[in-house]
Amino acid sequence: NIGQVTAEMIDMLSKQSFPPCMQQLHHSLRQNHHMRHWGRQQYGLFLKGIGLSMEEAIKFWRTEFTKLMDGDKWDKQYSYNIRHNYGKEGKRADYTPYSCMKIIMTNHPGPGDFHGCPFRHCDADLLRQKLQTQGIAKADQEQIMNYLKGSHYQLACGSYFTATHSKVMDSGDTAPQISHPNGYFEESQRLHS
Ligand code: SF4
Repeated sequence: NIGQVTAEMIDMLSKQSFPPCMQQLHHSLRQNHHMRHWGRQQYGLFLKGIGLSMEEAIKFWRTEFTKLMDGDKWDKQYSYNIRHNYGKEGKRADYTPYSCMKIIMTNHPGPGDFHGCPFRHCDADLLRQKLQTQGIAKADQEQIMNYLKGSHYQLACGSYFTATHSKVMDSGDTAPQISHPNGYFEESQRLHS
């Protein structure tokens, strides 16, 4: 556990330790200064899970959205949902971040959506292109694409983890079992500490 995470730390942490699903959401938010409902849910709860407080979450989302939107409008339309996710509104339930299974099986993303699991929901050619751009080694790309053919999305994610953590993993280390985006993050942080 890295303790208190602030809004300013998210760019750095996303590069270092976010799984592809959350990298994709983060990138789209920074680019579009907006995010649709299921993306906000998937990403917002993940950020809560890594230790972003409600105050920091409000600061983070507000700063990004108000690059395009009036602050008052944001307060009226969006702050409730964040407080709700932190258990401060409505049923006051303490909502937990989504697991890989939930992300893979539910709320299938449509056009203009950036939530979901890239291994499940991204077009295979596009995914390969992305891996290429990120400098993932050819052999790792092959392994990931083979897992996708067998619909083994979480195994593909484990291979991606290994491919992107070679500096902090020993060459004989096996890929971690990925079942939760927050588990991915924690394992990465553990290796980087
Ligand atoms: Fe995210 Fe899980 Fe998909 Fe990895 S397998 S990208 S952690 S949803």
